Amino acid sequence: MDDLSRFCCQNSECPEYGKRGSENLSVCDHYGPNKQRRMLRCRTCKARFSERKGTPLFGANPPKDQVAVVLGHVAEGCGVRKTSRLTRAHKDTVTRYSRLAGGHAKPLHDELVAVSPPKHARFS
Ligand SMILES: [Zn+2]
Repeated sequence: MDDLSRFCCQNSECPEYGKRGSENLSVCDHYGPNKQRRMLRCRTCKARFSERKGTPLFGANPPKDQVAVVLGHVAEGCGVRKTSRLTRAHKDTVTRYSRLAGGHAKPLHDELVAVSPPKHARFS
């Protein structure tokens, strides 16, 4: 059974828009390499959309700061375990964030946090 609880209808006209876990969604198709991506369909408004629609953090609803910190470590090349230890985020949380962010961890991190001084300038 597909777990669609973190998805919601993307049609802003739909009464189910933005509501997660209301069971109005079903998987209607698969696409992409190895058919790994799912097309979702809303029973209420009949809209179809890709599960990839929306931001990388779509559906996660985590505190922005924690995401930024976690993804910052991931973007710097820390492994899941190391990131977990450094940020005190649960290992599964780190995995989830990095998976949701995909290859976009670095730009997303840059977008979420204010620009900090370059490392070499910090102690001068
Ligand atoms: Zn809908």
